[in-house]
Amino acid sequence: MTIRTSPRLGSPSPSASPAGPEIPNLSLVSTLLEAWYPAAARPLPWRSERSGYRALVSELMLQQTQVARVVDRFASFVARFPTVRALADAPQQDVLAAWQGLGYYRRARFLHRAAQAIRDTHGAEVPQNLADLTALPGIGRYTAGAIASIVFGQPAPIVDGNVLRVLSRLADHDTRMGDPSAERWAWRESTRLVQAARAPGVTNEALMELGATVCTPAAPRCDACPIAAQCAGRASGRAASIPAPRRRAERRTIHWHSLVHVDEQGVLLSERPTTGLWAGMHQPPTIESDEEIKVDALSAAWGIQVKRVAQFTHITSHRTVEFAVFMPLSDCTLTIAGTRRVPLALLESVALSNAAWRVFECAGVPVKTPLSASGGRRAPRAARSEPTGN
Ligand code: SF4
Repeated sequence: MTIRTSPRLGSPSPSASPAGPEIPNLSLVSTLLEAWYPAAARPLPWRSERSGYRALVSELMLQQTQVARVVDRFASFVARFPTVRALADAPQQDVLAAWQGLGYYRRARFLHRAAQAIRDTHGAEVPQNLADLTALPGIGRYTAGAIASIVFGQPAPIVDGNVLRVLSRLADHDTRMGDPSAERWAWRESTRLVQAARAPGVTNEALMELGATVCTPAAPRCDACPIAAQCAGRASGRAASIPAPRRRAERRTIHWHSLVHVDEQGVLLSERPTTGLWAGMHQPPTIESDEEIKVDALSAAWGIQVKRVAQFTHITSHRTVEFAVFMPLSDCTLTIAGTRRVPLALLESVALSNAAWRVFECAGVPVKTPLSASGGRRAPRAARSEPTGN
């Protein structure tokens, strides 16, 4: 299962008047979707038992993350933090450590803060109405709508990339991913859809499921679609080209030079700043630069002779991070201000980014990463982390 969830789309200005066609027969569309969904729904773990808390956790996990990866991590996370109160009361480092493998750690911090707000303001019960949900840290209109409709049955609209695509094709409406006017139109049509639905939550889930499994970006399977007879995009033959792809922002490349130093007391770690990329996570001592730094300069900066043992590229949402991994040229003692030693056996309890785990893998540090422990989901990409001997 490798379907990527679509990015959640933001909330339009309520006063905006979106242009675009109104989709006809939305009552029939919702009826067909609700009839199709029970047999078509994938058996995902957060669907087996519904609660506001489980929906909150799964929705935050699914943002910009593959479904298969969330399937791997969801059960262990809710077992570790079974209630809003358990999550709210936990130290942030424990939450970040349990989030390992999912990336985008900002979501984990938001989830933690949302749980604390629910504990402090709502008696540890996830609120049911949109206004209270959207007031929680990190909860946008999409996530609030998903929880309010799917768990509590309210006629709350949702729009993510999947929903925008299905609605645009249904209307044969030329939209573009990421275009604010397209999103305003989709929110309007999604609102009309749930207002016409007998079971808004089922309609919403069916719409998302249809976009993820049938009405896929490049090759919609219209012959398997429950709303094919209502679809203007299918009738016009243009469905596969709607919506147009998002205009890409220019990606920035940065260079990170990481030093792996292990002795009998463990591995040397530093803590990242509390803001920015991988905020508050731990990593090997790392020198960041807009340009690649030569090994002699790095040796001088760290105070020991080092050699480069590996390199790899890590892609984030806005950046390309070129990692170069270094180790001491020979056995030596080393202390660096602001770092601490962590025994290898305890490394899994420390909040490390996926990239930091990969640095250790590349350096041959004998650690069992949370990723390899969960079935080898992220196999090291040897072709892009080759030793250089430099
Ligand atoms: S008929 Fe085809 S294009 Fe239209 S909603 Fe269904 S899968 Fe998508």
